[in-house]
Amino acid sequence: MNGRLCSIRWVGLLLALVRFVPIAGADPIRIYIVTDLEGASGVYQFAQTREPGHPLGEKAKEYLMGDIAAVVRGLRAGGATDIVVLDGHGPQAFVPHLMEPGATYITGKPRPGPLTELDGSFAGMVQLAAHAMMGTPDGVLCHTQSSRTENRYWYNGVESGELAQCAAIAGHYDIPTIMVTGDEATCREAEKFFGPECVKVAVKRGISREAAALYPFEETRQALYDGARRAVAVIGRCKPYKLSLPIQAKKEYLVFDKPSEPGRLVTKEGTIDDVLKLMSF
Ligand SMILES: [Zn+2]
Repeated sequence: MNGRLCSIRWVGLLLALVRFVPIAGADPIRIYIVTDLEGASGVYQFAQTREPGHPLGEKAKEYLMGDIAAVVRGLRAGGATDIVVLDGHGPQAFVPHLMEPGATYITGKPRPGPLTELDGSFAGMVQLAAHAMMGTPDGVLCHTQSSRTENRYWYNGVESGELAQCAAIAGHYDIPTIMVTGDEATCREAEKFFGPECVKVAVKRGISREAAALYPFEETRQALYDGARRAVAVIGRCKPYKLSLPIQAKKEYLVFDKPSEPGRLVTKEGTIDDVLKLMSF
């Protein structure tokens, strides 16, 4: 073998190694998905989200699982190496036999903290099947924490819904919200709080709190898959959502002294010195 041919072979081998090494040693891309139910494809009535065991609710959970499956597949295709999905709906909404492979699913209660097992190892957060904040005219099933007591929250003077609340907790760990799915109003709220880089996928358009123009599942699932795939690529361009401390907080909610009477509005004000305590205010 002459020396020139030999060095060409060495260069070739070296190039092959250079190409291979970054793939083999690539950092894991961990994605945390927090789900709700109100913003899933096909969900537009409180009868689908409030009563555990209601036949409409059982169907709605299946719709949610279909949305989750599309997002998990998209994130995987985009390069996510590890996905954790948290059941963030109050009465819980996962259907175990419909879990898409390629992720782990956290559900059940009680759990420590609002975003269980979220930590600094995650590169991005997805808010899936989310809904707009209380009082949004075209927000399907809009509310903030409690739809019955009509809670509203302000942090440092800015009215905030569940999107901002979850994002602020993730922001504590420097994790950006890279994707939001829900109705058009939810996507608009995401644009306002997280900016243009965060991927938004609307699966319906609200007409009133319990009326919507629904988009067919085949179309929403395709859009969710495409959006999730894109979301992995925008991680580096998304900024974590952070609240400056201490947080000046205000909460409004209704108290019902007698079930037959209309509620009376109560206002609570105070400061929160730790974002992780946001949900207990
Ligand atoms: Zn919710």
